[in-house]
This record gives sequence, structure tokens and C-alpha cells, in this order.
Amino acid sequence: MGIVVQKYGGTSVGDVDRMKRVADRVARTHRDGNQTVVVVSAMGKTTDDLVTMAARISEQPPERELDILLTAGERISMSLLAMALHDRGVPAKSFTGSQAGIITDAVHGKARIVDITPGRVRSALNEGNVVIVAGFQGVSQDTKDITTLGRGGSDTTAVALAAALGADVCEIYTDVDGVFTADPRIVPTAHKLDRISYEEMLEMAAQGAGVLQVRSVEFGRNHDVRIHVRSSFSYSAGTWVGPQEDMVEDAIISGVAHDTSEAKLTVQQVPDRPGVASRIFAALADENINIDMIVQNVAADGRTDISFTMPRGDLLKAQATLEPLATEVGAQGVKVDDDIAKVSLVGAGMKTHPGVAAKMFGALSAAGVNIEMISTSTIRVSVIVARNQVETAVQAVHAAFGLGDDAVAEEVSP
Ligand code: ASP
Ligand code: MG
Repeated sequence: MGIVVQKYGGTSVGDVDRMKRVADRVARTHRDGNQTVVVVSAMGKTTDDLVTMAARISEQPPERELDILLTAGERISMSLLAMALHDRGVPAKSFTGSQAGIITDAVHGKARIVDITPGRVRSALNEGNVVIVAGFQGVSQDTKDITTLGRGGSDTTAVALAAALGADVCEIYTDVDGVFTADPRIVPTAHKLDRISYEEMLEMAAQGAGVLQVRSVEFGRNHDVRIHVRSSFSYSAGTWVGPQEDMVEDAIISGVAHDTSEAKLTVQQVPDRPGVASRIFAALADENINIDMIVQNVAADGRTDISFTMPRGDLLKAQATLEPLATEVGAQGVKVDDDIAKVSLVGAGMKTHPGVAAKMFGALSAAGVNIEMISTSTIRVSVIVARNQVETAVQAVHAAFGLGDDAVAEEVSP
């Protein structure tokens, strides 16, 4: 008997009727003879609502208490789904992350899974139950406190459990048909990818494609878990995420991702001498601020500008850290631009095909989009543009690489 892990996102369990539809699908998977583990997200906007409630009751809620609060959303989903399955004559048991053996470090709000001890999950499966696990949560090895895995963390719960249980597949059920070549709300001709490699999916997710949490893809890659991203509202095949050698055709480009959650900071006229960049970025690291792109120019007259991007939510903290430091190191000042967006082109074929960056920049220039910063990896080219041009930029790049042409939907029988 094979083990199947299924994860249902917030929209898929958004209300009682949808929850019942999920129960029907899970019941069917169980009756087909699979040992079935189901990871659930909180219903609809529950997590957002809990965050808002906490913010209304306290300006700075203790992280420990905030984490316990947020795990409640997934616990509501897991117990309701278990009830719905019982109604359908399917034995089911729900477990919190902690009960399911999701062991994490102690970093509240973005804990990392350090171990999985799914003993209770295994026994419940062997007794013939469908096992339902609350996503997005675990328990700290050191403090024994309840932790959460960061927004979107139920994906990671599911892939991690699939790895630990040696599941045949981890199905991620969502409200779209799979992974698209671009956000279909911006590019109506964007098409669903049948397959994408772990490496490309990692880049897409890290550059703003919200369909999978980055860590879930890392887990999949590190433990070779086949991930099937698909819609809970249809029985169509979705997108398979797997190793590069599973990719049937070698597409040069997989897609275009965009991200509007960052801001750009420039430390102006920094003296060009050893140790200055190190002090700037050490100070930001001490504040736990994640830096993305960094650009430093060739110095003129012994001075240079250093620009970088970072999450917009950390902007005030970064400014407060850097303004006194800029004075200290003899820089001119700190300039902030929070009206930016990042557009990234991702594709494994870039490694071996010259001219990809040139073609991308050409498309942007033809569309009248100015490039403010550039960064690359072996399979990605990212640019920073003005936020009000993000749609134009995504559309232009998507079209230039002919990504919208062959929209194909592969139907499989229900
Ligand atoms: N409910 C959590 C969130 O909204 C976790 C998840 O859905 O994956 O981020
Ligand atoms: Mg999600």
C-alpha cells in the first residue's frame, strides 16, 4: 500500500461546504487503498484575522503567545475535517504538529524543522485511519514551546512529512491549477507548467511566486519528494516538481516571477576603504534583516554608493540602524525607495544558452521600463524596476520569451 500526503490550502478549506468537498476527496483517496495523510491550513483568512486580533490587543505580543494563537487556525481545520470523514464512514484522527512529531528550533514565527518523529502518525495509519495533521506548526526541541514555520508553512509540513514517511507523492492542493509561467492575473496568456525542476521552483518561489513556501521546495529537493501542485476544485493534472532528470523537454525558460514586497536602500557616498561594507551589513544582520540584492558602484573620487533591497516591513528598522552608522563611517546619508518591484526570469537552460539576459533587457527597454538594479544566479536574471511598471515589465518579458503561446490543459479522468 502506498502512502499519499495531501495538503489543502486555506481557500480549499475556506468554509464548511468546501471542507466537506475536501472530505469527499480524501475519502476517495483512502478508499482507493492509499494510506492517506492530510495536512491542512487554517480556513480562509483565519491566520490573518488572528494576527490582526493580536495586534489589536497588544502592540508587541510576545512571540511565544503569538505562535500558540496562530496554530489555533490549523487546529480548527484538522478537527473539523476529521469529523467530516467520520460522517463519511472513514476512520480519521487529527494531530497537532507537536503530536505528529514535527520538531523545530526555537525561532518563533519562522521556526525550522530539525527532526520528524512521526511515530503516532505511523501507528494511526497502520490502524487504518486517515491521519490529519495541523500544518504550519511544530514544537521546539529545546524550549518545548509551540512554534510556527512562517507564513505558507503548511506546504513545508506536508513535504517534510512526505519525506519522513517515504510517501510516493506529496500533493499540494490549492486554488489554482498548478505553477504558471507568470501570475495569470497579470499575464492572461500565462500557461500552467506540466513539470518544473526543484532548482527552478526554488528560484520561482524565492522570487515571489507564492504557490509554494520556499522551504517546502528545499525539503523536496533534499529528500527527493515528488511534489504535485494541483487544484482542489478540479481533477486536472497540475504541475509536478521534481529533479532535473525528470524534465522531459529542456525548456530554456520556465517562467517570470515578480515580487512587490521589497524596498531599496542606498547608503550614499560611502568612503571607499576596507571594512565599511562589512560594518553596514553586519549591523543589518544583527537586526535580523534579510538582505536580497546588493549593488556597489565603481568608486569615483574615493566614494561610492551602496544600494541593496530588503523586505519592506523591515524598512524602519533598517533606517534606524543605518542613519547613525552612515554618519559614523563618513557617508553622506541614507536614501529610501519603497516604490520598487523585482521581476525575475527563471530557467535551467540559461546555463547553456547565451543571450538570455540581453533579450530580457531588450524587451524591457522596448517596453519603456528602466532597470534600476540587476542580479543573477546561474538559472535566474532579476531586475529592480519602478513598482508602477511591474505589470508592463512582466508582460514584456513573458512575451519576449514566447511563454504564452502553448496553453495546454491536460485533463485526467477523475
Ligand atoms: N495558515 C498559515 C498561513 O496563512 C500557514 C499556511 O496556510 O500554510 O500562512
Ligand atoms: Mg500557500
